[in-house]
Amino acid sequence: ELQNISFTYATRKQKTISNLSMKIKSGQSIGIIGTSGSGKSTLLDILLGLLDIDSGQILYNDKQTNSSYLTEWRSKVAYLPQKVFIIDETLRNNIALGENNSEIDTFKLNKAIKQSQLNDLIKELPKGVDTILGDKGIQLSGGQLQRIALARAFYFERDVLIMDEATSSLDNETEAEIVNEIKNLK
Ligand code: ADP
Ligand code: MG
Repeated sequence: ELQNISFTYATRKQKTISNLSMKIKSGQSIGIIGTSGSGKSTLLDILLGLLDIDSGQILYNDKQTNSSYLTEWRSKVAYLPQKVFIIDETLRNNIALGENNSEIDTFKLNKAIKQSQLNDLIKELPKGVDTILGDKGIQLSGGQLQRIALARAFYFERDVLIMDEATSSLDNETEAEIVNEIKNLK
């Protein structure tokens, strides 16, 4: 829940976000529409905890996401970027990004793969989840990369997915596919 939030970039005279309030319920998908420069990315950066608001409050399940709660809040949010970051490692390591092989929770991994509908891709890959991706391995399509980003978010049990024009580099068909998958996830 956003309560009357305002935000001004240090280098700007005018507020970019002024007295904005909104509630987002669990399971809802909210689209934010506006002309270029109207403050959509700024709002998302605020939600991600990357920018500090001038005034107002941000609540998560009625808890204030102030400095003492910020770390916990950040651990609940996933950001789906326009360009998905892939390391020259296995698909498994790309989903459980940053975890050593011995730390990877197979149950969570398999669940994340199912939720992000990566099963079909994995069946086609020469070594399944152990196939190396990236510059030195298999190159994937935009839609497949977005699914890996989703699988990452699920593996790390993020409650909130934030997409800032995440599908704008994809063709219409792939975009429709991803939007459909996200709808199914609700
Ligand atoms: P949108 O995502 O809707 O296109 P942005 O949130 O990126 O809009 O930008 C909103 C306004 O804030 C614009 O006027 C933009 O120039 C300004 N702005 C964005 N980022 C910065 C920044 N880092 N420093 C100063 N001004 C910024
Ligand atoms: Mg933007």
